[in-house]
Amino acid sequence: MKVTKEIILSSLKEVLIENTKINIVDAGIVKNIQIFDLQIDLDFEITNPTLQYKKKIEESCILEINNISNKLTVKINFIVKKAENVQKIRGENIPGVSNIIAISSAKGGVGKSTVSSNIAVSLANLGYKVGLIDADIYGPSMHIMFDLQGEVPVKIDVNGVSKIKPLENYGVKLLSLGFFAESQQAVVWRGPMASKALNQLLWDTHWGELDFLIVDLPPGTGDIHLSLVQSIPVTGVLVVSTPQDIALSDTRKGVNMFKLDSIDVPILGIVENMSYFTPKELPNKKYYIFGKGGVKKVAEYMNIEMLAEFPILESVREASDIGRPIVLQEKTPIAQEFLSLAKKLVAIIKKRNVNLPATKTVKTDNSGTPACSS
Ligand code: ADP
Repeated sequence: MKVTKEIILSSLKEVLIENTKINIVDAGIVKNIQIFDLQIDLDFEITNPTLQYKKKIEESCILEINNISNKLTVKINFIVKKAENVQKIRGENIPGVSNIIAISSAKGGVGKSTVSSNIAVSLANLGYKVGLIDADIYGPSMHIMFDLQGEVPVKIDVNGVSKIKPLENYGVKLLSLGFFAESQQAVVWRGPMASKALNQLLWDTHWGELDFLIVDLPPGTGDIHLSLVQSIPVTGVLVVSTPQDIALSDTRKGVNMFKLDSIDVPILGIVENMSYFTPKELPNKKYYIFGKGGVKKVAEYMNIEMLAEFPILESVREASDIGRPIVLQEKTPIAQEFLSLAKKLVAIIKKRNVNLPATKTVKTDNSGTPACSS
């Protein structure tokens, strides 16, 4: 059988973009097909430049083309298109919001939401005006962590425009995808619907004046994750990881993604969670269940600051489960550690806003405390 461009094109139509039902041909990714006897050269134009993304597409294409004939070899040339609208959208601040901190992890289950909720409450306790978005489309949990399960945000009229009013607890204004879907339905948030829902949480919400908006990102470096980071003016990203080898290699990929020219979001630092476990009966022992010192090594290698390490504590898990983040137990050492992390973040953001083009600066009075007008 003679292999033609039409045959290749129809096999490429079987390759779908991750988390969508759109194939790479209809998405306009396939720019050129050249056939040299048994070698197929393809030019693809993409906006997601991560290695992981390229590899997934490459593997699927090779699989499909080898279904035509396993004698065919495939060479793909990826051209990374500069996302035209990135700068434009990034430039637009969310009205009233001074700084946006995205909290990211390459893997799920490492404690990203736990860290996000405790940072949010710590910043509120420090006197800042804080908002929090649970953008974890794969399993929103913040409505549980803030004891707001079953609550539904209402719409209010703001200068003739209908806006979502965030719910509030522990001094933090909160919106979670969990308010809009039962956890069993989390799957509905994949694909374009997820992006649309997240955009509504960001732009169609009456946040009022906020010093900090924390965005608990979905885990990973997929398309949805990427477009979210590109569509909001992120001041900086805080990365959360466990010291486990498998989490670390993904964490490196995640950090590299933020550092890419086309994304270029400053990394504020990295936090190690679930560093070690100390049994009650052996208070001087530390068991490094997920390995020791892994995140510190990654931080040094990638030239980012390690800002905290949190042990595995039953009380942290219990506090999240009952909807009262552990920082509310103010006198505990772990609460103090979260508070100290929040203070470090404020200092880093102030510095970052001086040295880099700012989303907007943190407003402070001369004593260094936040200027929190009502
Ligand atoms: P992610 O947002 O990364 O998926 P979560 O914050 O939901 O992770 O945490 C996953 C689970 O681990 C939750 O049950 C949470 O309460 C628990 N957890 C997170 N951090 C700790 C910790 N330091 N000690 C004990 N349990 C923790």
